Amino acid sequence: MSDTSSAIDRFRGALRLRTDWPAAADGTGPAAAAARTDAEAALTAFQDYLVSAYPAFHTAAERVVLGPYAVAYRWPGSGAADAAARGRALLLSHYDVVPAERDKWTVEPFGAELKEGFVWSRGTIDTKNSLIAALEAAEEAVRAGFRPAREVWFAFGGDEERSGAQGARRMSGYFAERGIDFDFLLDEGSAVTDGILPGTDRPIALVGIEEKGFLDIELSVEQKPGHSSRPPRVQAAAVLGRALDRLSRKPFPWRLTPSVEAFFRALAAFSPFPRSLALSRARAFGSLFFALAGSTPETASLMRTTVAMTQLEGSPADNVLPSRVRAILNVRILPGWTVESATDWVRRAVADDRVKVEVWSGRTANDPVPAAEGAAEGAAPGWQEVSATIAETYPSAPIIPFLVTATTDSRHYAPVCRAIYRFSPLVVSGGELGRMHGHDERISIKNFETGIAFYRALIAKL
Ligand SMILES: [Zn+2]
Repeated sequence: MSDTSSAIDRFRGALRLRTDWPAAADGTGPAAAAARTDAEAALTAFQDYLVSAYPAFHTAAERVVLGPYAVAYRWPGSGAADAAARGRALLLSHYDVVPAERDKWTVEPFGAELKEGFVWSRGTIDTKNSLIAALEAAEEAVRAGFRPAREVWFAFGGDEERSGAQGARRMSGYFAERGIDFDFLLDEGSAVTDGILPGTDRPIALVGIEEKGFLDIELSVEQKPGHSSRPPRVQAAAVLGRALDRLSRKPFPWRLTPSVEAFFRALAAFSPFPRSLALSRARAFGSLFFALAGSTPETASLMRTTVAMTQLEGSPADNVLPSRVRAILNVRILPGWTVESATDWVRRAVADDRVKVEVWSGRTANDPVPAAEGAAEGAAPGWQEVSATIAETYPSAPIIPFLVTATTDSRHYAPVCRAIYRFSPLVVSGGELGRMHGHDERISIKNFETGIAFYRALIAKL
């Protein structure tokens, strides 16, 4: 059995291994190539660290390495009588982290300092915590002679923060080629929130059962370049500006997906009357419901495809007419829409032939991942195991289905998995949420230990 203090030590060891992707590695030329080599070596060092930190698990499980960005483990099932009826389970995490601006932190971002009952480091909540907690629980189980009834896989990505293209997507392809599919998977994407949801002051376990898609659209207008002393009557920037204005006046239509309807119905139980009534009868209240429920950006983003205007570009000089002006729209696609239908919708809303509307090639677009059949009713595979584990680990938190508005590695596994759950065993308050991808990221020791307890309870059910 592993004791807690050494679990913390192993966690801190994992945090000290830098797995952030340096900006210098993205360019061209020999310096960038060298930076890439170093960054990839660091990712491989992290994979090696797991081998030395969890020796018992590594004797019980078969390790699959697909380069620096992906490592997976197959933990064979015991073949117990009812195991044949159960499909495989997949536990996901990632070991890359976002960079940290040293001067904005009060501690060393990769120092894994223990202070005030917290471990302080980049990666403490996104998401070496879940990766290490899962392996702590697995190591412990193997040492105790436990074997899961069904076959259990772990898969960890090394490029989730960028695209997952060389990690999760390759690993999913590996599974697909070999006919390996899963009943369900568990990934990050949501957690136990504490006092974050409007109108609530209690912990609530949000489980992401569907995920929005991602799309960058480029709007551009061309004109004849020339000297700014002789501007044309209609200028490209004005045409583009009018298109953006039309778009902001015409948001995507409201829509309730299965998880969001279930989310508001469950939330109604904690809301005062008459808010509770409107929330619980979404369909009957129609537009009143959307006006109420969509009144903040957070809740509005659950009920429509959103368009964020993020980048604008015109002339490189103050006295030169640009030959082309452009804007990037970052679009988060609600389930029910696709990359194609959302792009068409924007094109129609712009309604101006002078404005070119196209999917921007600088980023990979992806369709949303809708909920598995029956997921909102708790009837999809794996829900029993996941929800019972949450209830055991966080007994005071009601469990509510949720739509994840960010992207996670799990989307790459949609072709090989029937039901996808996005939940990290982690209690987050408003203050902690801002530290994710921000400064002074940290996790309390209790929060980390409860994460291990979560995986211990989950593995026992697999
Ligand atoms: Zn993450």
